[in-house]
Amino acid sequence: MTARACTHWLGSEHRCCQTQRSVRHYLTGWRCPAHTPAALAGHPEPPPGPGMPTGAWTTPSPHSDSRAHPNPHRAAQAAVNDQEVTT
Ligand SMILES: [Zn+2]
Repeated sequence: MTARACTHWLGSEHRCCQTQRSVRHYLTGWRCPAHTPAALAGHPEPPPGPGMPTGAWTTPSPHSDSRAHPNPHRAAQAAVNDQEVTT
């Protein structure tokens, strides 16, 4: 069974729907638009989510910018050296 067809059981017709047009996979199996879980429950189809923001991966991550993380050892040494100079 490789063809994607609606597997909704049409009890009155004693057969599966078998529609192959615009089927999508749901938790209950492949369903045509007329037999989605929402359609069977009498609810409107949930709208598509917003998905990824447009610039999600175009902004450099601060974690990949070495300037955001100066070497902590060097920073500690500099602080010690400053103290030695001033005291
Ligand atoms: Zn169907």
